[in-house]
Amino acid sequence: MTNVFLSLGSNMGDKKAYLEKAITSLKNLPQTTLLGVSSFYQTVAWGKTDQDDFINAVCQIDTCLEPHELLKQCQEIEKRLGRERHEHWGPRTMDIDLLLYGSETIDTADLTVPHPYMTQRAFVLVPLAEIVPNLIFPKTNQTVSSLLSDLVTDDVVKI
Ligand code: ATP
Ligand code: CA
Ligand code: CA
Repeated sequence: MTNVFLSLGSNMGDKKAYLEKAITSLKNLPQTTLLGVSSFYQTVAWGKTDQDDFINAVCQIDTCLEPHELLKQCQEIEKRLGRERHEHWGPRTMDIDLLLYGSETIDTADLTVPHPYMTQRAFVLVPLAEIVPNLIFPKTNQTVSSLLSDLVTDDVVKI
């Protein structure tokens, strides 16, 4: 079993319901146990800012699924929840990203772990710090809360 953290986000339709459905689907993944879910946060869109606010959360799971198999399963959940890909960082019903897969570093064409932008994103680090503030980020050996202390968090509000 490997301890894995996933980031969930939605900014279309009934965002909260999409998050809840995604969490149920993660709970039902084979060889996987859902260990915890952060609060839900309303966040201002990051990167491409001319779109509706997001609701974001972070999930902690234990899984025997290999990283690429887990990515595939997450993409299938996104698809089932109506995810369509139009523009980079555009609006979406559901986005599930692999943040951390144990302390592994993965650099392949379709999967980079730790997620390349996670340390720059308050909408990821705020919910992550809520559930595992003392977790060590593999690349820099800093805790999640110390990474978070470098970011502005005004745009991330617990709901
Ligand atoms: P970002 O990754 O910056 O948050 P995004 O989530 O909007 O952007 P997507 O369109 O959802 O990007 O995904 C594009 C591709 O990113 C996916 O097809 C997947 O192969 C790849 N990818 C690479 N690393 C990861 C990761 N850690 N988690 C999820 N997808 C990843
Ligand atoms: Ca994403
Ligand atoms: Ca994604």
